[in-house]
Amino acid sequence: MTVNGQVSFWQASLGPNPPRPALPGPTEADVCVVGAGYTGLWTAWALRRARPDLRVVVLEADHVGFGASGRNGGWLSGLMPGNRELMAAGPAGRTGVVGLQQALHRAVDDVLGACAEEGIGADQVKGGTLAVASTPAQLRRLRAHLATERSWGVGPDDAWELDAAEVAERVAVPGVLGGVFNRHCARVHPAKLVRGLADAVERSGVEIFERTPVLRIGDHEAETLTGPVRASWVVRATEGYTAGLPGVRRQLLPMNSSMVVTEPLGDERWVQIGWEGCETLGTGAHAYLYAQRTADGRIALGGRGVAYRFGSGTDHRGATDEATVRELRAALAGLWPAAAGVRIAHAWCGVLGVARDWCPTVTADPHRGLAWAGGYVGDGVAASHLAGLTLADLVLGEDTERTRLAWVGHASRAWEPEPLRWIGARGLYAMYRAADRAEADGRTRTSPLAVVADRIAGR
Ligand SMILES: Cc1cc2nc3c(=O)[nH]c(=O)nc-3n(C[C@H](O)[C@H](O)[C@H](O)COP(=O)(O)OP(=O)(O)OC[C@H]3O[C@@H](n4cnc5c(N)ncnc54)[C@H](O)[C@@H]3O)c2cc1C
Repeated sequence: MTVNGQVSFWQASLGPNPPRPALPGPTEADVCVVGAGYTGLWTAWALRRARPDLRVVVLEADHVGFGASGRNGGWLSGLMPGNRELMAAGPAGRTGVVGLQQALHRAVDDVLGACAEEGIGADQVKGGTLAVASTPAQLRRLRAHLATERSWGVGPDDAWELDAAEVAERVAVPGVLGGVFNRHCARVHPAKLVRGLADAVERSGVEIFERTPVLRIGDHEAETLTGPVRASWVVRATEGYTAGLPGVRRQLLPMNSSMVVTEPLGDERWVQIGWEGCETLGTGAHAYLYAQRTADGRIALGGRGVAYRFGSGTDHRGATDEATVRELRAALAGLWPAAAGVRIAHAWCGVLGVARDWCPTVTADPHRGLAWAGGYVGDGVAASHLAGLTLADLVLGEDTERTRLAWVGHASRAWEPEPLRWIGARGLYAMYRAADRAEADGRTRTSPLAVVADRIAGR
C-alpha cells in the first residue's frame, strides 16, 4: 500500500526527528528566527559564524524540516526564481539581476562546501539538471528559454542544448526530441540536508525550540503561547506558511506541490534507464514535472497536483489526494515505461511561497527590527542559502556584495482577496494543463492559453 503523508518520504525514511524542547516561557534574544527550514537555519548558521557572541533562537511551529525544506524534490539548483524583467526594473537594474543569477550559481557549491565542512551527508551528487522536450512546442520553448537566459548571466559553459541522442546517453526517456542541460545543480536528500543543518546550527550555539508556533510577529517581538520573545531582530522564515500570520496573510500564496517515490527499481530496470549521472530531470511542459534518481535507487517525481487550497490553506501533514497520485504515476510511466510496474511507495505534498509578481525577496526593516525572505517559487533549496546569508548581513548592518543583489528589498503587491485568489490560481493551472494537452495533441507552438496564463501570473 502507498503511504500517503507522514510529512514526506524523506522525513519518514529517517525516522522520527530527535525531539527538541518547546519554548519554556518569555525570552530575550539578539535575534529570533521564526521557522526551522533552510531559510531560518542558514540565517542562524551565518549569524553565529559571524558573531559567536549573539544569542540566536529559532522558533518552529512543528519540527525541524516540517515545511518544504523536508519535503522537496531535492534539486539543489542555481536556477533563478522569479521574473527577471520585473526585478531589473528595481534599483539594482539588469546588472543586479545578472549578479543575482551568478550568486545563485555559486550558491550550489557554497551549500555543498558547507555540507562538507559541517559533515552533512545528504546524498549530494552534483550531476547538473536536464530539461527534456517530448513535443515540438516544448523543444521550441526550451530553446527560447535558453536564448533568454543567455542575456541574464547564463553562459555557454553554464547551460547548453542537447540533441535526442545526447539526452539518451544520459537517461533513456522514450520519444524525447532534445533537451537543455544546466550544470549548476546537485541532487540531494532534502530531509538529510535540513536535519544535518539543524544539528550544525545547534553545535554553533543556536537554540532551536520546536512545537512553538508563533502567533504574531510585531516590532522586535514574536508572540508565542508561552510568552513573547523580545529581540533586536525578528526574522520571518515561514515561506509557504506565511499566510497563517496576522498582517501578512496575502503576501505569499501557498502553492501546493505533490510528490511520489517508487520502490527501489532494481539493477535490471536501471540498466534500461541509465541515469548514472543523477542529473535532476524536468520537462518542458507548462504544468511542470521534476524528478530525481535517489541514492537508494528509486525515482522521486513531483508536480503541481491541486495547485491551491481556498483561503491559503495548507495540507495535513503532507497527505495528498488520490487523483494527484494517479496523475503522477501516469507521468512516471510516460517518462519511464520500464518503471511503470513499480509500486509507488509513498506520496506527499507541501507548500511553497509565491509572491503576486512571482519574485522572491530578502528584506530588512531596521526601524521595526523585522527581516524576512521567501517567495522562491519552486527553486528555494539553494536560493534559501543565499537568502539566509544575506539576511544575516542585513541584520548585522553590513554592506556586502550580497546585500546589493537585485532581490534585496524587492516588494510585491498583495494577492487578491478570496474568492478571486482561488479562482485565479485554479484557473491558471487549468489553462497550463489545457495548453499541455493541446501541445501533446500536435500543436507545434506554445498554446495561446499558456501565454495568457503567463501574463495573468506576471511570469
Ligand atoms: C513538494 C515540493 C517540492 C519542491 N522541490 C524543490 C526542488 O526540488 N528544488 C528547489 O529549489 N525548491 C523546491 N521546492 C521549494 C523549496 O523546498 C522551498 O523554497 C524551501 O524549502 C523554502 O525553505 P524555507 O525555509 O523558506 O521554508 P520552509 O521549509 O517551508 O520552512 C518554513 C518553516 O516555518 C514553520 N512555520 C510556519 N509558520 C510558523 C509559525 N507561525 N511559527 C513558527 N514556525 C512556523 C514551518 O513549520 C516550517 O518548518 C519544493 C517545494 C515543495 C513543497
